[in-house]
Amino acid sequence: MRIVRVGLDVPLDQLFDYVADDAEGPEVGRCVQVPFGRKQSIGVILEQAREAGIPASRLKPVGRVLREAPPLPPQLLALLRFCSRYYHYPLGQTVAGALPTRLRNPRPLPREPDAAWRITGPGALADPASLPPRSIALRRVLGALRERHLLTRADATALVAHPRKALEELVRRGWAERVEAPAAPVNAAEVPETPPALNPEQAAALGAILAEGEGFNAWLLQGITGSGKTEVYLRLLEHTLAQGRQGLVLTPEINLTPQLEARFRRRFPGVMLASLHSGLAAGERLRHWLAAASGRARIVLGTRLAVFTPLPRLGLIVVDEEHDGSFKQEDGLRYSARDVAVFRAKHEGVPVVLGSATPSLESLHNAARGRYRRLVLARRAGAAAALPQVRLLDTRGEKLREGLSARLIKAIGARLGRGEQSLVFVNRRGYAPVLMCPACRWVSPCPRCAGRLVLHLRDGRLLCHHCGHGERIPVACPECGNQDLRPVGHGTQRLESALAGLFPGARIARVDRDSTRRRNAWEAIVADIRAGRVDILVGTQILAKGHDFEGVSLVGVLNSDAALYSTDFRASERLFAQLTQVAGRAGRGSVPGEVLVQTEFPDHPLYLALCRHDFDALTGDLLEERRVAGFPPFVHQALLRAEATGTEPVQAFLRKARELAAGHDPAIVLFEPVPALLPRLAGMERAQLLVQSASRARLQAFLEQWRPRLAALGERRVRWCLDVDPLEA
Ligand code: ADP
Ligand code: ZN
Ligand code: ZN
Repeated sequence: MRIVRVGLDVPLDQLFDYVADDAEGPEVGRCVQVPFGRKQSIGVILEQAREAGIPASRLKPVGRVLREAPPLPPQLLALLRFCSRYYHYPLGQTVAGALPTRLRNPRPLPREPDAAWRITGPGALADPASLPPRSIALRRVLGALRERHLLTRADATALVAHPRKALEELVRRGWAERVEAPAAPVNAAEVPETPPALNPEQAAALGAILAEGEGFNAWLLQGITGSGKTEVYLRLLEHTLAQGRQGLVLTPEINLTPQLEARFRRRFPGVMLASLHSGLAAGERLRHWLAAASGRARIVLGTRLAVFTPLPRLGLIVVDEEHDGSFKQEDGLRYSARDVAVFRAKHEGVPVVLGSATPSLESLHNAARGRYRRLVLARRAGAAAALPQVRLLDTRGEKLREGLSARLIKAIGARLGRGEQSLVFVNRRGYAPVLMCPACRWVSPCPRCAGRLVLHLRDGRLLCHHCGHGERIPVACPECGNQDLRPVGHGTQRLESALAGLFPGARIARVDRDSTRRRNAWEAIVADIRAGRVDILVGTQILAKGHDFEGVSLVGVLNSDAALYSTDFRASERLFAQLTQVAGRAGRGSVPGEVLVQTEFPDHPLYLALCRHDFDALTGDLLEERRVAGFPPFVHQALLRAEATGTEPVQAFLRKARELAAGHDPAIVLFEPVPALLPRLAGMERAQLLVQSASRARLQAFLEQWRPRLAALGERRVRWCLDVDPLEA
C-alpha cells in the first residue's frame, strides 16, 4: 500500500493522506482528484509516505490521476514550498493557486485542441486595401493577422462578432491557414524580422549578462523609455532558445501582452510561444499552460500569475517594468511576482533580468548593496527619437476651462493643425470624481465604503470604484432636496466631452478601464492610433504603459498634484514612475515631443527632477528620506490585515494579536492597530497592525511563531491575513 500526501485548496496548514492503489503509485507533483468531505477536489501530490498519519479505516483512495497534465517539476514544488513559508500561507492553497482553474475543475480535460489561424507568406504580402471596401470584417481580421501573425478563435471573435466567414475567405485565398492552438508557431517558412544592430549601450548590457553564463545572477536593466530594453530581452531569449531552454517573460499589464507577443512572434517565427494572463478563457489558458509545462512552448509571456508556470527547461527570466505595482497579488497568496521571479531564478540557477525606466526603490537599493547588478541604457535607441521636453504649467490663479489651461489648449490646437497626435493624461475614469450639493455639502458617499461614488454621466449612474456599488444619479440632493447638484473635478469622460467641445473636428479616443473592458478593445484603439485615425487621446495610466506611438508629439498631464502630499509614503515614487512612463510616450518618432504638466506646485523637487529627466537624483533623495524615516527598503514589513462587519471585533482581534506577540524578539517593532487607508470597504470595517524589523530573517522567525497563535484563536467574526512586504497601506 502506498500513501500519498496531497495539497488541497483548503485554509489549513496540512496535507491530506490518501491511498494510491497502483503499486508504483503516482509520483510527487501529479495532479489528482480525491474525495474531500462530500466533494471531489483536485490537488497535487506533495509527498509519498510508508505510513499514514490517520487510522487505516479512515483512509480513502485517490480518485483519478490527471495523466493529461505532466507532474509539476520538483523545482517548482520547491519554489511553492518556499512561497508558502515566506508569505505564511497554507501550502495546499499555494500549490492550488498555481494551477490553472480549468485544471482544478473535476470535469475531464478537453481533447480537442483549439483552432487558430496563422498568416501565410502571400497573406503577409497581401494588401488589405485591395479588398472590397465593404468587407470590413475581412479587412480587420487580415490587418490583425498581419500584425500578430496568429489569431485564436477567441482573438478573432473579439475583433469582429462573426469571424467565421472572414477566416474562411482568407483560407480560400491562401492568405491564412488553420493550425492547432495554443501557442502554434508562426509559419516557419516566413523570413524572421531582421534585428537592428545594437547600439554600444545595448551591446554592453547584453555582453555583461552573457559573459556571466547560465547561472543565477539578478540584473537590473535601467533604461529610459525607448532605450531598447525589449531589444536586449529579445537577444537574451535568442541565446536561451539556442541552448534549447525556455524563457519566461513577465509583464505587468494584460493590455501589453498582445503587442509584446506580436513582437516576439515576428522575431522568432517557428518558435512556440505560450501566453498566460487572466484575460484568456479558462480552456485557452489551460492549453497554453500545458504547452509550457510539457516543454513544447519555448517562450512563455505572461502577467504575474505566469511566474508559477511549470517550465522543465527554464533558462532565463525577464521581468519587464519591474517597478509596476500590478506584480503584487492583493488577495490569497499575497506575493510579489517580481520577488518570486528572483527567488525562482535563484532556486533554478538561471539569470533574471529586471527591466524598467524607473526601477523601484527596493530594486535600486538591492543594486546598491550588490545583490543585483545594474546596467544602464541612458539614450533612446531609435536614430531620430530624443527625450521629450518637459515643461511645467503653473496653474495658480488661472481659471481653467474644464480642467484645461489656456496654454495646454493652445498646444493641442497647434498639434491638430500640424496633423500630429496629442495625449491628455488624467488618472481618473468616469465623468467627475464626485457629485456635490453646493447647498448642504453632500458629496455622493458610497453606502458600503468610506469612499465617494464617481459620477458616470454616460451610464447615468454613480459608481463606487472600490466595491462596484452603483446607483442612479439622484435628481435632487438626498439630504436637502436641492436640485442643483454639481459634478466636481475631472475624469476622462468629462475631458473627452470638453475636448470635443473645444475641437469640434478632432477625432478623440478615450482610453480607460471602462472603454477597454471588452476583450481586445484596447488593441482596436491602438490600431487606430498607429494608423493616424485619432487626433487626441484622453486616458488613464493604461495609456502610460510601454506603447510606441510614433505620431504622439504632445503629452498633457492633469491633476497629478494630489499624490505629492499623500499619506502613503510610496505615492511620490509611484507618481514619478507614472509621469516618466506617460512622458515617454511623446517623441518616439521623428517629431520631437513635448510634455506639459499642469501644476500648482511648480517648484516641487519631484517635478523639477522630471523636467531634467533626472531619475537618479530624485531616487537618491527618496531613498535618503526612507532611510532617515525608517521605511522600506531599509526595514522589512508585514501587515496583519483584519476586517469584519463591525469595528469592535476588528479592534478586539488586533488587540489580542498584539498580546499574543508579548515577549517577542526586541528586533521586532509592533505598531498600534490603525484603520486601513480605506477604513470601510464593501460593508466591511478594516484595520491593520504593522510589524517591522531591520532583519528579514528575524521578522520571518517572528511571523512563523505568531501566525499559528493567531490561527489558534479560532476567530470567526473577523477575516484576517498576513501581508508580507505589503505595498498597499
Ligand atoms: P524600451 O523597451 O526600452 O522602451 P524598445 O526595445 O521598445 O525600448 O525600443 C524602442 C524603439 O527603438 C523600438 O521601435 C525599437 O525597435 C527601436 N530600437 C531598439 N534598439 C534599436 C537599435 N539598436 N537600433 C535602432 N532601433 C532600435
Ligand atoms: Zn444638499
Ligand atoms: Zn463602495
